[in-house]
Amino acid sequence: MSESKMSSMKKEYEFLKEIGLGSRNLGCYINGLWQGNGPVISSVNPANNQRIAEVVEASFQDYEEGMRACAEAAKIWMQIPAPKRGEIVRQLGDALRAKLHYLGRLVSLEMGKILAEGIGEVQEIIDMCDFAVGLSRQLNGSIIPSERPNHIMLETWNPLGIVGVITAFNFPCAVLGWNACIALVCGNCVVWKGAPTTPLITIAMTKIVAGVLEKNNLPGAILTTFCGGAEIGQAIAEDTRIPLVSFTGSTKVGLMVQQIVNQRFGKSLLELSGNNAIIVMDDADTELAVRSVLFAAVGTAGQRCTTCRRLLLHENIYHKVLERLLDVYKQVKIGNPLEKGTLLGPLHTRASRENFEKGIQKIKSQGGKILTGGNVIESEGNFVHPTIVEISPNADVVKEELFGPLLYVMKFQSLKEAIEINNSVPQGLSSSIFTRKPEIIFKWIGPQGSDCGIVNVNIPTNGAEIGGAFGGEKATGGGREAGSDSWKQYMRRSTCTINYGNELPLAQGINFG
Ligand code: NAD
Repeated sequence: MSESKMSSMKKEYEFLKEIGLGSRNLGCYINGLWQGNGPVISSVNPANNQRIAEVVEASFQDYEEGMRACAEAAKIWMQIPAPKRGEIVRQLGDALRAKLHYLGRLVSLEMGKILAEGIGEVQEIIDMCDFAVGLSRQLNGSIIPSERPNHIMLETWNPLGIVGVITAFNFPCAVLGWNACIALVCGNCVVWKGAPTTPLITIAMTKIVAGVLEKNNLPGAILTTFCGGAEIGQAIAEDTRIPLVSFTGSTKVGLMVQQIVNQRFGKSLLELSGNNAIIVMDDADTELAVRSVLFAAVGTAGQRCTTCRRLLLHENIYHKVLERLLDVYKQVKIGNPLEKGTLLGPLHTRASRENFEKGIQKIKSQGGKILTGGNVIESEGNFVHPTIVEISPNADVVKEELFGPLLYVMKFQSLKEAIEINNSVPQGLSSSIFTRKPEIIFKWIGPQGSDCGIVNVNIPTNGAEIGGAFGGEKATGGGREAGSDSWKQYMRRSTCTINYGNELPLAQGINFG
């Protein structure tokens, strides 16, 4: 980046220099070098819709060049012992720690989430690095007793080669972290395409990884990054050099990606849309529930996959909880996400704001009663009011994910009815119940309880820890990322039977000649 380009940056954006960004940035990291021969786009601040900086996206030639280098790097990386790969990821964690506040600020600036959440997002990758370092010494296979004398059966795990990672705008770097930290210690190279509206985060994050690879004399192509849109995403989905495509985004696009990857017998790992409910029973600590609903419904301006969109209140506490919630909604400070005290920042783009407006019209046409909010805020940014709507659980709109600070409230009479409503939507990501009764808790987490991938008790639907496997069922795609045994998806399993005797006994006692 030339000095003159740097000096043309607005003062409020000068911190970007600390993470290697300028007013015009090349958007492809290919074979250890930065380039870009595709369209030039602007990264826009959602709080005022003004340009932050320009980015040159990838062309198809860039893509091809990058993939060739990545395939070569894969041959080297998979041969490095796993704990040594872990050491590289440990260094990545340290490099992120050193830039935590700058990166967090950039997430807040470009995506629009409040600063605390921006910093939290980067912290999540640091946590993932720590997790992956430990994992690098625990990619254990097993020894299985053989039915044949002088035979031994082993299960071993080998790298896949290259993992493609396509990510959504709302977690512009954490999702890369969930995937890349695990994929890397498992011995895979990573090809990343971030969201087209968050290219600066994609570039800044890649620069941090690139610095660590360079310091260790490793090929830069171990992480290959392309800024771009649907065309580059589609190229990743179609590419037979990429055995696993991890896709995070909407159900609509995820389904298309899955079908393309399936056609070539690739594997896909899908993290798609949510439509998450909180159930409050009549024995619950209602103050705890209200605080949780506020964070789950208003946090990240309702743009988390785990955002609470449906609040199911027992009829005995319906009015009490609703009144308290309407009261706390009045106190939510809306404004610049970088300013202290702001709880609700803007929606990510102008299009998201228009979508919100259209959604409200649809809700009204289906009998929804707006209890608070329900409109956009006239300003140069993409701000909307946090909204609560009273509606029937059977309305069609309730089955869809409207990405904004919109909460549907519904009344129920019994636990059975509440669980039925919870499970009645196509998506199956997150869910939570507020109760103190053990019999309700165990029913909720059991076979006739919530059908979601995340089943919480007395906490919000969002804010998952990285130690557990993260993901959801049904139209959320069935993928699991981050902790627990999610790593197995990033490796291929070999079942090895070794005969160390001189005879050839066959399985199932077969005597063949
Ligand atoms: P999106 O589906 O519009 O885009 C996601 C990514 O797919 C982007 O990088 C985009 O460029 C790319 N893409 C678009 N068309 C493509 C195509 N034809 N082929 C390949 N790639 C293509 O989603 P979004 O608006 O960025 O993100 C919001 C959605 O993501 C919400 O539905 C949210 O619930 C979901 N999400 C889910 C999780 C999860 O873990 N379940 C996490 C974050 C976001």
